[in-house]
Amino acid sequence: MSFMETVFAPHAERAAKLAESCSPFANGIAWIEGEFVPLAEARIPLLDQGFLHSDLTYDVPAVWNGRFFRLDDHIDRLEASCEKLRLRLPMPRAEMRATLVDMVARSGIRDAYVEMIVTRGLKFVRGNKPEDIVNSLYMLVMPYVWVMPPDLQRSGGSAVITRTVRRVPPGAIDPTVKNLQWGDFVRGLFEAQDRNAIYPILPDGDGNITEGSGFNVALIKDGVLYTPEHGVLEGVTRMTVFDIARRKGIEIRLEHVPVDLAYHCDELFFCTTAGGIMPVTRLDDQPVGGGQVGPITRMIWEEYWLLHDDPSYSFAVTYPDN
Ligand code: PLP
Repeated sequence: MSFMETVFAPHAERAAKLAESCSPFANGIAWIEGEFVPLAEARIPLLDQGFLHSDLTYDVPAVWNGRFFRLDDHIDRLEASCEKLRLRLPMPRAEMRATLVDMVARSGIRDAYVEMIVTRGLKFVRGNKPEDIVNSLYMLVMPYVWVMPPDLQRSGGSAVITRTVRRVPPGAIDPTVKNLQWGDFVRGLFEAQDRNAIYPILPDGDGNITEGSGFNVALIKDGVLYTPEHGVLEGVTRMTVFDIARRKGIEIRLEHVPVDLAYHCDELFFCTTAGGIMPVTRLDDQPVGGGQVGPITRMIWEEYWLLHDDPSYSFAVTYPDN
């Protein structure tokens, strides 16, 4: 069995077991205003500024094989994002962390996508001081989401560098604050479809790449790993990639990454919590490198999933049924 199968096959077994569960939360659980509800029944108030003006931030950790992965790093980033947006965590950090663990345990989901959203709340910013506004918290847990499904990870996905849309500039919307102002990404997704591909990589308007619809971008050229320093979310998955690269003696260059380098790279991959390390083997309808998943991408992929069992990166959730 290839290493990929040692990750995907047990995941498929866990998903099949979950499908047999009669827990009301097996398809997902939400925490809204202090109540736990089945995800499909969760509702938000229409007047929440998160909905009306996308005035919010959020973060997404994951659980793999019953272990929370880098949860504290995601909460750190959420706190930093709140600070930048003049939001306050509506619940003490320790309580929020414990509630997330409890939600995963109640759901019985072993491989989970976890989301926490902090919104401005019910008052608009105009006419109100941020300290006078009560912010809202929403949390949800659902079965693991794959930005690139396992089948496609085996051979690699297809991407375009978009021509009709650029990434919103950091001077307009700070991309280091995880946000849901996805207008540019949605345009990019449509352009990718129109050009017979799946994933958009958005340029910055100055000849460099930035990131894509829910993932960071990294490429390998002559054994060196390149990834954009500016205009992107500082991904937790990308931090894990850096840890692996350092350990393996791979040079990392965090700098402007010209579009041209992407067209001439040896390997290309995306990384995100919802899907992990996602190889890309076609760019603008041309093969990347030899058109196969490259050796460095494969090595990073394997190390990434091995780290999910490492206690310095993850901890076990205690489920009621074990
Ligand atoms: N960039 C964007 C725009 C994202 O939305 C995400 C994740 O959703 C990422 C990068 C990857 O971040 P992380 O690795 O922390 O999941």
